[in-house]
Amino acid sequence: MRIEDNIKLDYKNVLLRPKRSSLSSRKDVTVERSFIIERDTKLMGGIPIMAANMDGVGTFEVADSLIDRRMFTCLKKDYTSEQLIKYFTDNTPRSAYVAMSIGIREDDLLKFVTVQKETNGAINILNVDVANGYSERFVNFIAELRSNFPDVIIMAGNVCTADQTQELILKGANIVKVGIGPGSVCTTRIKTGVGYPQLSAVIECADAAHGVGGFIIADGGCTCPGDIAKAFGAGADFVMLGGMLAGHDEGGGEIITKYYATGEQWFDKKNETYNPVIESKKFVQFYGMSSATANEKHSGGLKNYRASEGREVFVPYRGSIYTTVDDILGGLRSTMTYIGASNIKHISKCATFVLCNDTHNRVYES
Ligand code: 5GP
Repeated sequence: MRIEDNIKLDYKNVLLRPKRSSLSSRKDVTVERSFIIERDTKLMGGIPIMAANMDGVGTFEVADSLIDRRMFTCLKKDYTSEQLIKYFTDNTPRSAYVAMSIGIREDDLLKFVTVQKETNGAINILNVDVANGYSERFVNFIAELRSNFPDVIIMAGNVCTADQTQELILKGANIVKVGIGPGSVCTTRIKTGVGYPQLSAVIECADAAHGVGGFIIADGGCTCPGDIAKAFGAGADFVMLGGMLAGHDEGGGEIITKYYATGEQWFDKKNETYNPVIESKKFVQFYGMSSATANEKHSGGLKNYRASEGREVFVPYRGSIYTTVDDILGGLRSTMTYIGASNIKHISKCATFVLCNDTHNRVYES
């Protein structure tokens, strides 16, 4: 047994310290960035925030909305080859911003090969996503993929340590997805005791990736625009969002109305009776991709040798995704003016984190 006894940190343990800045307006900053991937051979550019490959988030409709803001999407895995071929055919912007997602089964590979062939190579970014990025099978899969598809940008994950980040990049991944257990609907840490506090994971994996010419995505655990800014401050090249982009029209989930008694009463003059005040709120179902709900939907139920590692929740319905996205980008621009970062790549250079016992005042939080 070994113990690492220096404390690791989450977004909630730190704040970004403001710094003297010559930036006078949020209009003076740029949140876009371009990436030269693999020594000038591949290029990616846009606002480096991406929608997660989850039901209700990684949909074609979310992807097309995010393209309008030059942001990225990893499509959910259950789209069929036919749907993907139709979506990607003859649409260059989609290839630049939207990744197809697969696992590491044989039929996943077959699906990718089919779509790539039928669309004349429209899949520019491939997201190879497994819960545990530490298995040898996963590493071998990435190596084989790289040797067979030299021109595709490969995203691979998830891991949470420097050693495996480098291993995946050296085997051919361009961008490593970092995060084991921080997600809003993830129960891995509860079910298994395994994980790594996300801010520290991002700091350590970014350092490791940049040392060997790769990039990282901070995946999971962002609860507000400030957390996204902290992830970029920690060195993330991209930030992936699930819960923060759930509950919108574009996610396609069913909108459910729930009714609540507020505890107040209203007086009915006609009948001279007091009645409870009832309010309604709209919600959308959201669940982890390893939850029992997702397993039932996509894999014919949870196998008896597996535990569910995700939860199912109802998130408030939030209308159009553009409102949320613009709020996120507004927050990020503001961070940049506070710390003096004129472009998104400079956030980590300008970031000084302060450890804190509490990050904000909760007096009016419901
Ligand atoms: P969020 O932004 O909601 O905090 O986190 C999104 C991330 O949580 C996803 O990109 C994915 O990596 C992770 N995730 C999604 N579903 C599950 C699940 O069922 N279990 C676990 N352990 N992680 C999940």
